[in-house]
Amino acid sequence: MTCELCNSSNESVLWGNPLCRIILVDDKDYPGFCRVILNQHVKEMTDLPVSTRNELMEIIFAVEAAIRQVLNPDKINLASLGNVVPHLHWHIIPRFRHDRHFPNPVWGSPQREAVIPPNTGLAEKLRTAVQQHLAL
Ligand SMILES: [Zn+2]
Repeated sequence: MTCELCNSSNESVLWGNPLCRIILVDDKDYPGFCRVILNQHVKEMTDLPVSTRNELMEIIFAVEAAIRQVLNPDKINLASLGNVVPHLHWHIIPRFRHDRHFPNPVWGSPQREAVIPPNTGLAEKLRTAVQQHLAL
């Protein structure tokens, strides 16, 4: 069985290392939605050695901090589901009270049409902020 996260292409990668990669998700309703994807095909966090899972969380928190710095969202949603693709990946989603699904999860029922303020160079801003936070 092929795994779409093991065999991915057309990803907008902001940063990567041997452990994982950070991608910017192409979702018109959620600019700044990032995903941290483990490079190895592993199902659960507790399948990883403690030091590795801690390293992964540090990277996830750096992405969260970068998104907060660049977008100043009302809330961050952190989610790891993997029911459809059982390959460890974390969603880091900036949420705004006026976004399409708030206060529901982004996978829930839409509440309204979102009005997205323009944010030119967002990918570059996030890349720079992620690198700053990873260096701390
Ligand atoms: Zn995989």
